Amino acid sequence: MIIVMRTEALQEEIEAVREAVADEGLETYVMVGAERIVMGVVGTGVERVQHVEGMPGVEQLIRVSKPYKLASSEHHPDRSSVRVGNVEIGAGAPLVVIAGPCAVESRDQIMATARWVKREGATLLRGGAFKPRSSPYAFQGLGIEGLKLLAEAREETGLPVVSEITDPADVETFDRYVDMLQVGARNMANFVLLRAVGQSRRPVLLKRGLSATIEEWLMAAEYILSSGNPNVVLCERGIRTFEMATRNTLDLSAVPVVRERTHLPVLVDPSHGTGHRPLVRPLAVAGAAVGADGIIVEVHPDPPMARSDSEQSLSFPEFGDLMDDLRRHEYLRHPTGPGVTAPAQPPMERRRLRARIDDVDARIAALVEERAELSVAVQQTRASDDHGHDVERERELIERAAGADGGVLTAEEREMVFAAILRVSRSAQRRSAATAAAAAGGATPQDAATEVAAGGATPQDAATEVAAGGATPSGAATEVADPDVAIPSNNGSAP
Ligand code: PEP
Ligand code: MN
Repeated sequence: MIIVMRTEALQEEIEAVREAVADEGLETYVMVGAERIVMGVVGTGVERVQHVEGMPGVEQLIRVSKPYKLASSEHHPDRSSVRVGNVEIGAGAPLVVIAGPCAVESRDQIMATARWVKREGATLLRGGAFKPRSSPYAFQGLGIEGLKLLAEAREETGLPVVSEITDPADVETFDRYVDMLQVGARNMANFVLLRAVGQSRRPVLLKRGLSATIEEWLMAAEYILSSGNPNVVLCERGIRTFEMATRNTLDLSAVPVVRERTHLPVLVDPSHGTGHRPLVRPLAVAGAAVGADGIIVEVHPDPPMARSDSEQSLSFPEFGDLMDDLRRHEYLRHPTGPGVTAPAQPPMERRRLRARIDDVDARIAALVEERAELSVAVQQTRASDDHGHDVERERELIERAAGADGGVLTAEEREMVFAAILRVSRSAQRRSAATAAAAAGGATPQDAATEVAAGGATPQDAATEVAAGGATPSGAATEVADPDVAIPSNNGSAP
């Protein structure tokens, strides 16, 4: 800490400041400059002399090291990991996925959710038993009954459980039933609660306050650490900004900032961060991409009926899609390393079925290719100024696919498949038409192909979009019905 004195500071003011520092058991080193005096304060706990800032003759205090000593990476360069039950969070451990309802509502609800999220690969179960609601009339949670149900779900599934604590007096009860205590955004600056959970033997999940700066958040962590609990995991859950399109603004930049300033693990909560179901999956993937050690998401068996945060809760299949996305991007993988056994060989029957799937995939690829070749051939039989494609034929095809007697696929899923096939066929047609036009006009075919690829939907685009769920069945149908959306002016026609 450096104390900068005013240029006109009197000798007795300088002495008074030195004495105030000495009263706190700290030493000052005085540097006399041409214009003013500057004092360095050394020792542990320099924060204790902050009050000298208001003394006569003092211009300003300059802090040299971080105020959050225990949380800071300055004195702890290696990343910390926090163990919750049998799950390791941070320091290079596999991405942690904490999933479960906003609030525990009933035995059936929490058990069904626990079984489902476990089956999909979640590593911890979440569920609020004491809910800090904005309205005193809203559902406040099941209280201790909710904690007991969580413990029961852990018993059956083996998933460690995390739940929010709102009252310092409840620490012992929480210690008995849950594996990790959550301090919610609304309580991030509840210093009595922070000290209380600092005395718990359970790890703490500390959410960032609604309007907290990163430094305030890390100081909250410091309260817990300095009370004797070294197991703190931070969680970015969105902050309040002027933006109204989302419930909060998920501050993803906080993740790398926090990873630079502290050694503590950090999670991202895309549910509270966005408040809208369709935004949860992309922001969960984004959280993993910016380096979060895990994500925490709300999942409910019947989201529209959820008693709290229904708008942002994922259904079971939506949570499955999110996990698929994380796996596809390889944020989730089998843990490797010493002591971890390789996954066992799948049983014979499963291997046989997978071999058949490989065979079907190869045939699908060949058929899609053949279809695209035929559509290019059809397009070549048309006059060069014959533009537009056969909307009627495409609509019929989609309707036929949707209307066919279904097996395991829904009508929407069959529509999605055919919409994707039509799109890639049209892409191939456009590329071929552009190549022909360029050849006729003297440009190299490569130029033309590149131009089309840059300006239009490439086959890869189409496939990626469908894979990412971007082409909704209704969106696809609309697109098919409107040639202008998909087809740039004078090329392409439906087979
Ligand atoms: C919750 O996790 O359900 C919750 C209330 O979160 P936050 O404190 O981030 O609003
Ligand atoms: Mn919630």
